[in-house]
Amino acid sequence: MLPFKLIYHDGYDLNLGAHVFPSQKFRLTAEKLLAEGIAATDDFVRPEPASDADILRVHTADWVKKLKTGTLTASDIMKLEVPYSRELVDAFWLAAGGTIAAAQGALRDGFGCNLGGGFHHAYPSHGEGFCAIHDVAVAIRRMQSDSAIRKAMVIDTDVHHGNGTAAIFAKDDSVFTLSIHQANNYPAHKPASTLDLNMEDGVGDEEYLNTLLPAVRHALKQFPAEMIFYVGGADPYCEDQLGGLALTLNGLKARDAGVFEEARKRKIPVVTTLAGGYARRVEDTVKIHINTIVAAKEAAEKYPQARPAGN
Ligand SMILES: [Zn+2]
Repeated sequence: MLPFKLIYHDGYDLNLGAHVFPSQKFRLTAEKLLAEGIAATDDFVRPEPASDADILRVHTADWVKKLKTGTLTASDIMKLEVPYSRELVDAFWLAAGGTIAAAQGALRDGFGCNLGGGFHHAYPSHGEGFCAIHDVAVAIRRMQSDSAIRKAMVIDTDVHHGNGTAAIFAKDDSVFTLSIHQANNYPAHKPASTLDLNMEDGVGDEEYLNTLLPAVRHALKQFPAEMIFYVGGADPYCEDQLGGLALTLNGLKARDAGVFEEARKRKIPVVTTLAGGYARRVEDTVKIHINTIVAAKEAAEKYPQARPAGN
């Protein structure tokens, strides 16, 4: 048994076939967590799709309508970079519901892990780079609307800049956005996060960790985050096809552990999402995602937290 819930739904699979986005990774990650005995069946929670009202806290009515009625323009589909289908739309609504459920789990248990989500390239009025709906922003707005939190921090370690996140929260001082990414990579236009850590091509474990972890400590000193949303991309991996950094499997696990321990020391609940991962071998991507869950478990054990009264 894990000391927190894993949010997962078979509908996360976008069924993209031979696409570079290996959407079967969500199912493979869930199956392997069970097969390796890291998680038990009872650790899993099936999310409901987010309500349209929740989606509309972030996205424009026009974009929601286009997605629901299949009226995306050729330009919309080109930017999204995935073919349109009804299942695709359902998968994004489920992912957003999953990140909301993970946030609710994090409030209760200290961690809440969505085995999906992290669609950080989605903007309010359009999608980009495989991301149609910004599940993390939707969950933050829902938590704020429920008065569960006021201030949130997004720590985005996907190899690609969190452009949608930066744009959505640009003028909002209730959300601190931190993105560590490869400077010379997609997206071409990178609106400013609260803190952008731009990595040169080929940066490895040591330089990456020595940049990220002091920055996280500094950010948490200056910003009283009540919840951290972790976008744990697997694509800074040295064998990623869409990334140009050189982190190892151990370096990526140390990245996750380092961020989680800083949160845990300060008793800040953490929501994890998977985000990108395009390793030549999909098993490597799955392993990196599984290690994120293992790192959460180990951080929870290293820094135990009393549950709030009544739970
Ligand atoms: Zn990415």
